[in-house]
Amino acid sequence: MRDQLIALAKIAEMDSSARELDDELRSLPAKVEALKTDLATLETLLAREQEQLDEAKSLRAQRAEELRTKNEALARARSKSAHATNMKEVEAAEREVEAVRRSVRDREEELATLDATIEQKSAILKERAAQLEEARAICEEESKRAEARIAELEAQRRTVLAGRDELVARVDKAVMRRYERIRERFKVGATFIDSEICSACNRAFPTQLLGKIARCEEPVECPFCHKLALHVSLRE
Ligand SMILES: [Zn+2]
Repeated sequence: MRDQLIALAKIAEMDSSARELDDELRSLPAKVEALKTDLATLETLLAREQEQLDEAKSLRAQRAEELRTKNEALARARSKSAHATNMKEVEAAEREVEAVRRSVRDREEELATLDATIEQKSAILKERAAQLEEARAICEEESKRAEARIAELEAQRRTVLAGRDELVARVDKAVMRRYERIRERFKVGATFIDSEICSACNRAFPTQLLGKIARCEEPVECPFCHKLALHVSLRE
C-alpha cells in the first residue's frame, strides 16, 4: 500500500500544480464570452438607433412630399383668388389661401422638428458606431490574447500532468475513486501531513489517526475536512 500512497502523493502534487492552471483555463473563456455579450448588446443598440434614424428620414421624405403638394395647392388657391370676379369669390378664395397657408406652415414646422431629430440621432449614431468599433477591437484583441494564453496553459498542464495516467494505474481503483470524489467536492483531494495538525484545515488529528497516517498502510481521511491525509514521507 505504501507504493500506492507514494503514487497517490505524486498525483496529488500534480493535481495541485494543475489546479491554478485549470482555474485560469476555466475563467478565460468566460471573460471572452462576457466581452462578446457586451459587444452584441452594443450592436443591438446601434441597430435600433439606425432603425429609428431610418424611420425619421422616411417620415421626413413623406412630410416633404406633402409640403410640396400643399405648396402647389397654395399656388392654385392664390391663382383662384386673383381670378375671383366678385366679393363672395374673393372672400372664399382668401379663406382657402389662408387655410392652405396654415397647413403649409404646420408642415414646415414639423419638417424643422424632424430635421433636428435626424441631426441629433445621426450624432448619437456616429458616437455609438465609434464605441462599437472600439469595443470590437478590444474584443478581438482580448480573444486573441486569451487564445494564446489558453494554448500556453494547456501546454503547461500537459507538462505538469505528464505521467499521471501511469501513476493512476498503480493505485487501487477504489482509493483513486475516493480521492477523485473528494477532489471534485473540495477542489483538493489530499493534503500532506508533517505534524499533528491537518495542513488543510489546521485542526489537530486524534492520536490514533496520527499513528495510522505515519504508518502509511492505508489512506486516512481527515475527520474534519475529509481530505486524504498523506504523510509527508510519501513525497519523494
Ligand atoms: Zn483536515
